[in-house]
Amino acid sequence: MHAKSCNEKRETINPCRKQNSFASLTLRAAVCSICVMDKKTSRDRARPPRAIPKRHGGYDPRVVQRVAVIGSIAVVCLGLVVLVAAIVISERTEPSVSAKTLEHQSPFDGKRAYEDLRKVLAFGPRPAGSDSLAKLRVFIKDELSKAGLRVWEQAFEASTPMGKRSMVNIVGAVEGTSDDIIIVGNHYDTKYFPDIAFVGANDGGSTTAWMLEMARVIGAKRTGRTLWLCFFDGEEAFGEWSKTNSLYGSRAFVDYLRGRGELSKVNAMVNMDMIGDCDLDIRQDRDAPEWLTQTIWDTARRVGHERAFLAFGHPIDDDHIPFRRAGVPAIEIIDFNYGATAQEHAKTWHTARDTIDRVCADSLQATGDVIYHALPEIDGFLDM
Ligand SMILES: [Zn+2]
Repeated sequence: MHAKSCNEKRETINPCRKQNSFASLTLRAAVCSICVMDKKTSRDRARPPRAIPKRHGGYDPRVVQRVAVIGSIAVVCLGLVVLVAAIVISERTEPSVSAKTLEHQSPFDGKRAYEDLRKVLAFGPRPAGSDSLAKLRVFIKDELSKAGLRVWEQAFEASTPMGKRSMVNIVGAVEGTSDDIIIVGNHYDTKYFPDIAFVGANDGGSTTAWMLEMARVIGAKRTGRTLWLCFFDGEEAFGEWSKTNSLYGSRAFVDYLRGRGELSKVNAMVNMDMIGDCDLDIRQDRDAPEWLTQTIWDTARRVGHERAFLAFGHPIDDDHIPFRRAGVPAIEIIDFNYGATAQEHAKTWHTARDTIDRVCADSLQATGDVIYHALPEIDGFLDM
């Protein structure tokens, strides 16, 4: 993939979000109710002192003082009772975000996907047209078949700066109750480097493993649109990225569907890339249809993964672009900030450091939970 501009800049995210829980608000209220007995409010301080009316007969000042002390103790006790009650209620009704994210929010199993990732990486560097990619292809097709999906291929010849290359897109089809199609795509090739052993644990590897787990948990049939899990070949450029030297597989696939008059059946496309980073932060695809972004981001919030799905966007080129150009509503789900900082990204992305120790099962889990639950929501929107 390729970010169009300013993509290296990391926006600062405040890790310490305000916890305005009922408990903390009530604590503040209780403390304030105590404080207010001793201090005048700033508004009161600003006011000119009022003249004290003269009392005729009047009260005993010792009695007044005693009443004031008893009143203060009563207010303090009341504040403490309210505070304790608020903490009890709060703990019963609001599990913490960290507790929510630790649970599986879907049948998707991030650990199982991580084990698949080990197997994918064992094939070594997997550039388009290589023997290792052909071997991985056999593995992918086997796993999709075992999950009950109908598997087919689209083979094509691509002209690259390194000459003609044979490439193959793989499709695992989940039969829906409708013939219309939703595509979830990714690329299964890794970028070719003549001088380094680039295994692409995150870039190329993470989504390949993730797609196999998604196939397993969705299975042969689903209610809603037919789902195509597409593994695109030749996403990576040979050398410098350009319009003609990149996205070979997705461009060829869109042409293929157009030639068969099937493009209009594709109602939506979600492309996954680089979702395994242990420090998962997915920016919005700035150019995606708003409804598609909102559907996925609302789902992320609903299943407790909102921390990984950021509230701001960026422009990005990837396998969703040929679909978008062809009029298909399409979105990219990518963490194009590999590691915790922009400097770390620059040192890791497309380098020999893109290894399995930088990928986490929790990140595969988070994106798995979100997309698993977002698919029926996408169906629901399209049905409206
Ligand atoms: Zn890449």
